[in-house]
Amino acid sequence: MFKGGDLSGIKITHAFDSNGVRVSSDNYDALPKKFPLICPDPKCNAYVDHVNGYKRESYGKQQFIPAFFRLEKGHNHANDCAFSAFGRETIVAGDSDCEVKDALAKGELIFRVHVMDSEERDKLKVKAGEFHINPPNDTAERKYRKKGRRATYVRTMDSLLDIYHHGVSNPIDRSKIQLVIGGNLVKWIDFFYSTNHLGSLRTRLINEGIVQVAVILKVHIIGLPNAKLGRFQFIECNPKTTGNGRKIYTTIKLAKNMPVSTFTLGSQIMVLGKFSIPDDADRVTPIYLGNEVRTLVSHPLQVVEF
Ligand SMILES: [Zn+2]
Repeated sequence: MFKGGDLSGIKITHAFDSNGVRVSSDNYDALPKKFPLICPDPKCNAYVDHVNGYKRESYGKQQFIPAFFRLEKGHNHANDCAFSAFGRETIVAGDSDCEVKDALAKGELIFRVHVMDSEERDKLKVKAGEFHINPPNDTAERKYRKKGRRATYVRTMDSLLDIYHHGVSNPIDRSKIQLVIGGNLVKWIDFFYSTNHLGSLRTRLINEGIVQVAVILKVHIIGLPNAKLGRFQFIECNPKTTGNGRKIYTTIKLAKNMPVSTFTLGSQIMVLGKFSIPDDADRVTPIYLGNEVRTLVSHPLQVVEF
């Protein structure tokens, strides 16, 4: 088991000084601070040290490792600290939320999405955390590194929601923000879909087959195991009713181990997934009601309440 945060691949990017002032790892020298510095998890009192950013040669490529904090020698995180080797998903949640908010505030326009989706989850039949140590290497990420600093990672749906909201309230940024996902660079407007925009999503699905996007939906029916469809459970969402043409329903197929309690009837959610149009034989929505688009959700990390 890893202790100390280094080997786990989870970097602590901020800490609190002894006066409770937040200290960020990347502008560490900017302000005076009162030592010792303390782990940012409020449940934890471990001391941490600052480590400067540095360059590392890896597979013939130069990689810049940004500054971070690491556990001071002789200290351990509290057992329930988000930065201990347990509870890594919580860590990533807390940590990257801040990173993305900070990056938006600084006017960054490119973000790399690494929220796990079902396919990545499947590939991840390996020990927890490995995904974060060796995030999938995509070609786009190399192209969009800025001055030695990579575009900010989006690791949680909360952060994705921040980017969505930022785009909604800042039309100029909305037209410029791009997301790197699955090796592709995608514009904000081609990545986020509300229920009202399911028409353009469906057109893309007809042309492109499968697209990985984030869709805002309202939970309408939480299905029981469907005997006709392999006893999978489906979440049925309110359809698009605006505009011309038939209604478009979104159904979410839940992997067998996916807790149905993630979904609350009537709630608005954002779902990240690979969407496609189900075969007729696989449809949940009767054809006479309208069209159907579908995604698979296999982990609660793919869903956030709106
Ligand atoms: Zn800690």
